[in-house]
Amino acid sequence: MSIGLVSVAYVVASILFILSLGGLSHQESAGRGNLYGVAGIIIAIGATIASAAVGDITAIVIAVVLGASVGIAVANRVQMTQMPQLVALLHSFVGLAAVLVGFSGYIDPLVNVTGTEHTIKLVEIYLGIFIGAITFTGSLVACGKLDGRISAAALTLPGRHLMNLVAIIAAVLLGAWFLDTDSMALGVIALVIMTIIASVLGVHLIMAIGGADMPVVVSMLNSYSGWAAASIGFMLGNDLLIVTGALVGSSGAILSYIMCKAMNRSFVSVILGGFGQTTSSAAVAGEEKPVHETSAVEVGEELLNARSVVIVPGYGMAVAQAQNAVCEITKHLRDKGVNVRFGIHPVAGRLPGHMNVLLAEAHVPYDIVLEMDEINEDMPDTDVVVVIGANDTVNPAAAEDPQSPIAGMPVMEVWKAKSVVVLKRGMASGYAGVENPLFFKDNTQMLFGDARDSVDKILGALRNS
Ligand code: NDP
Repeated sequence: MSIGLVSVAYVVASILFILSLGGLSHQESAGRGNLYGVAGIIIAIGATIASAAVGDITAIVIAVVLGASVGIAVANRVQMTQMPQLVALLHSFVGLAAVLVGFSGYIDPLVNVTGTEHTIKLVEIYLGIFIGAITFTGSLVACGKLDGRISAAALTLPGRHLMNLVAIIAAVLLGAWFLDTDSMALGVIALVIMTIIASVLGVHLIMAIGGADMPVVVSMLNSYSGWAAASIGFMLGNDLLIVTGALVGSSGAILSYIMCKAMNRSFVSVILGGFGQTTSSAAVAGEEKPVHETSAVEVGEELLNARSVVIVPGYGMAVAQAQNAVCEITKHLRDKGVNVRFGIHPVAGRLPGHMNVLLAEAHVPYDIVLEMDEINEDMPDTDVVVVIGANDTVNPAAAEDPQSPIAGMPVMEVWKAKSVVVLKRGMASGYAGVENPLFFKDNTQMLFGDARDSVDKILGALRNS
C-alpha cells in the first residue's frame, strides 16, 4: 500500500475514533460509538500491515490471533463488577509496550539520524520509557488493589513525597547523562536504571492511594497509557498512534477531573495519596443503634400507594445482578400509574456509567434515568425512594457533617423524600468505609437481604396484590 493511501486510512481511522468518543458519551449512541471504534481499529491495523514499512506479516498475524483469542475469552468471562481491574490490567500492557518499543527504538541500528533530530529521538525514547514504566507497574498495583490481592489501604511511608521527588530528580539527572553519552552500552545502562526507578515510583505512587480513590487512579492511568501510546507514536514516527494516544490521554484526564469533582476531591490530593483507608465494617456494625426494619410485602404496599418513586441503585445492585428484576418492578408500577424514575450518582458503582450500563442492559427506558443534579431537586416531592445497594452515594454526612471524611462530596439527597427504603444485606459501610446516618433516620426503613432476593420478593408482593 502506498504512503498516500496509508495516510488516508489513518485519517479515516482518526475520525472514526473521534466519532467513537462522541458516541460513547450518551447511552443512546454508545452502541454506535463502539462500532465506530471497532471499525477505526480494523482500518488502522489493516493499513499498518499493508504498508510498505512492514515486511513479513507472519509474526503480526500470530500476535493478533493470539491476542484477540485471549481478549475475547477474558471479556466473555469478566463480570461487570470486575471491569475496573480488567481496565487497569489492559493499561499495564500499553505501558509495557511503550517500554519495549523505547528499548528497541534505541538499539535499532537501522535508524540513523543525527544532530537535533537525534536528540529529539533520544528525548522521545527516554520519556516514553519513563511514562511507560510508571504506567506498567502502577496499573498492575491498581489491578491488584481493585481485585483484593493487595490491601486497599493507603501505604503512607514516612517521607514518601521526598522519596518520590528524589526518584524524579534521579531520573532527570540520568536523562541528562543519557543524552550526553555517545556509547550505546552506557545509554542502555542509563535506560535500564531509569526504568527500574520509574517502575518503583509507579508501585510507590499507587500503593499510597487508598481503595476509595482507586477508580480515579485507574482513569488517571488510562490517561498515562494514552500519553505512553502517543510517545510510542513519536518514537515510531506513526501519526495515527500520536493522535490516538492524545485522544486517550486527554479523555482520561477529563474523566479523572469529572470523577474528582463528583467526589469533591482535588486531583492533586488524589495523586498525592493517603486517602481512602477502609474502616472495618464490623466496627460500624458493632455500634448497635436502632433501625426500622421492614418487609418486602410492606415495601410492595408502600410502592403501590405512592404517586412518585425514585430508585437509587449502587454497587450492591451490580453485585446482586438485580437490574432485570428492578426493571420488572418499574414496569409493574408504571402500568399502575406510579411515576417511577431512577437517580444515578456520577460515581455510583465502581466505574463511571456502571449503573447506566446495567439499567440499559435490563431495558430500563433512558428517559426515566436521571442524573443526580436533575433528580435531587425533586426529592422533597418524592413519596418513596428505594435505595438498592447504594451507601456512600446516599450518605447525608457528606452534606451535613463537616468532620466526615466524605464531607462536601455531592450525594443523592434521598433523606429529603417522604419515605426511604434501603435494600442491603446488613449494616456494613460502603467503599469509603464511612458510617451512614441515613440508616438511622425516622423516615428510613431497612430491608435486609441480598438485593436480588429482596427485589424478587417485592416483585412477588406487587404481583400478588
Ligand atoms: P458503596 O460501595 O458505597 O455501597 C455499596 C453497598 O452495597 C454496601 O454498603 C453493601 O452493604 C451493599 N451490598 C453489597 N452487596 C450487596 C448485595 N448482594 N445485596 C445488597 N446489598 C449489597 O456503593 P455506592 O454505589 O453507593 O458508592 C460507590 C463508591 O465507590 C463510593 O465510595 C465512590 O466514591 C466509590 N467510587 C466510585 C467511582 C466510580 O467511578 N463509580 C469512582 C471512585 C470511587 P452490605 O454489605 O451491608 O450489603
